[in-house]
Amino acid sequence: MALEQDYWQTQTIPSLEAEFAHFGTYEIAGALALDLAEHIRSLGYHAQVHSPNDNSGAFIPLFVEAGLGQLGANGQLLSPHFGSRARLMLITTDAPVVHDEPVDYGINKFCEECQVCVVRCPARALLREKVWYRGVKKNKLVYDRCRPVMVTYEGCAVCMKVCPVQRYGMKPVMEHYIETSEILGKGTPNLEGYELRGKGYFGPGKLPHFTREEFEIPHGTKEEHLLQQFKEKLEKNGTTDAEEALEFANELKRIVEAGVSRTDE
Ligand code: SF4
Ligand code: SF4
Repeated sequence: MALEQDYWQTQTIPSLEAEFAHFGTYEIAGALALDLAEHIRSLGYHAQVHSPNDNSGAFIPLFVEAGLGQLGANGQLLSPHFGSRARLMLITTDAPVVHDEPVDYGINKFCEECQVCVVRCPARALLREKVWYRGVKKNKLVYDRCRPVMVTYEGCAVCMKVCPVQRYGMKPVMEHYIETSEILGKGTPNLEGYELRGKGYFGPGKLPHFTREEFEIPHGTKEEHLLQQFKEKLEKNGTTDAEEALEFANELKRIVEAGVSRTDE
């Protein structure tokens, strides 16, 4: 199931308004998917909803296999209907369903020419050259560069906003390319401009600068991070008191009781 998030809110990326469109769409999609799964179960089959929040399915590859779009250089599904504004939800079932086929919309070739998301990413996190990664040839995203910017600037998603297929639609973009060999909107503020809170406006050709500290993020599991913090405190103070030791133990207990602590890899 692919639901479109609001067009105009998306154009305000990066912003809280756009995050509202993002999560609000998942909220609607989640409720619809639960209803659909319930209906499938009422017919006597199993049905399980997979949301991107639990990452329990290979979302984009399955949508590509079903012909609902293709993988863009920005790492998102480019749907022929609403580009990368597609918010995805999966239902797995043992019901006898008819499988669709992948469709080549020309996105792979087009992305090689376009590259707008790659050059406009404020964190320089998208690789220009495609590499094979986990069975897919793609413009791999450098997690350690993307994540700090993403968490600091309202989910970032500049790579979604500046995609011409998202901005103008697949049909006009492809027709323009066939007629002119040019990428619709490329090099214009309308497509490429964005503002980062506290850093200012960045038009075509301009990118923000970040310090090394701005890219520092914790790695590993929550308990590893907690232990690291405790060790740093010990190294700094040379000792610890009973209250700090108890605080550490209680926090560790809380993490363990909350369930599996995932790594960030
Ligand atoms: S979310 Fe932002 S930082 Fe991450 S790849 Fe997209 S544009 Fe770059
Ligand atoms: S911005 Fe261009 S290169 Fe990036 S995903 Fe969209 S079409 Fe592909």
